[in-house]
Amino acid sequence: MSVLVTGSTGLLGSEIHALSPGAIGLSSKECDLTESNHAILTLEEGRVDTVIHCAARVGGVKANIDHVADFFDDNIKMNMNVISACKERNLKLVSVLSTCIYPDASYAKYPLTEDQIHAGPPPQSNFGYAYAKRMLEVQSQAYRKQFGCNFISVIPNNLYGPNDNYDLNSGHVIPALIRKFYEAKIFGYKSVDIWGSGKPMREFTFARDAAKIILWLSENYDGDEPINIGNPEQVSIMDLAYIIAEEIGYYGDRNFDSSKPDGQYQKPSLNEKLKSLGWKGEYTSLRNGLRETIKSFEIRYPNVRGVIIA
Ligand code: GDP
Repeated sequence: MSVLVTGSTGLLGSEIHALSPGAIGLSSKECDLTESNHAILTLEEGRVDTVIHCAARVGGVKANIDHVADFFDDNIKMNMNVISACKERNLKLVSVLSTCIYPDASYAKYPLTEDQIHAGPPPQSNFGYAYAKRMLEVQSQAYRKQFGCNFISVIPNNLYGPNDNYDLNSGHVIPALIRKFYEAKIFGYKSVDIWGSGKPMREFTFARDAAKIILWLSENYDGDEPINIGNPEQVSIMDLAYIIAEEIGYYGDRNFDSSKPDGQYQKPSLNEKLKSLGWKGEYTSLRNGLRETIKSFEIRYPNVRGVIIA
């Protein structure tokens, strides 16, 4: 299998790129997929047979609320471009969705199963992103039906790993807390702000685990149903903060900032379909994944994505 990875310098795309020898990586610097699908359309004949589409405008709970229209627009445009190019070049397409596209708590039955994606509106905190990603799944299914395209979709939960975005406004909770606790330790801050109440529960999957599963599915799955691929172990944000502080060695205070959004209370997912397809791999434990991520952050700091030191 020869692969092209979109979003190849991002958290997930970089892991997929690293795991697939000979893969072509496409980053936003090389091609703005919101504007053009030229980079895929002009691939040399036979050079690639599968596109793993990781490129997306992604962000944490606050960025999704503050820039709801941008999250919708950019993702819709990218997805339309990638889908049309894959159809034109007759390529397999693996699209990456997210558990945040599932219906809000008042409509969802937990744990979340793949048949529930359209069972109600998504949470307001992810409105634009979730609808754009749902449309990616709808469009993939439509192209399967009308044109016989080999398009599949996978649904990870919250991903984390070494190549994350450490910007405190646009990033997710794990990179934000790693950065905050680390800077508090080295600069001697008395306390660290944690957004919201600390009560929400999340499932976290190490990005390399997700990359392995996606590569496996790209070779072993050709069905119209999307597949949940995340580690279904839940942890509260409060406990997560405790583990990160402990791994970093920060012993100051933790201050829960109720002026910041909690987002959804939980979004637990079920990965039985993945297992029934024959996937037998183990997930990296949260503690071990965090340890590797923190180590990589500490070695590279301040030269990590999202940290700008004036
Ligand atoms: P979500 O799963 O889309 O809500 O993504 P996030 O990673 O942005 O947030 C997960 C949870 O972590 C939410 O309940 C946030 O309120 C909480 N959280 C606590 N501190 C932070 C922080 O510094 N940054 C972010 N992004 N979330 C935080």
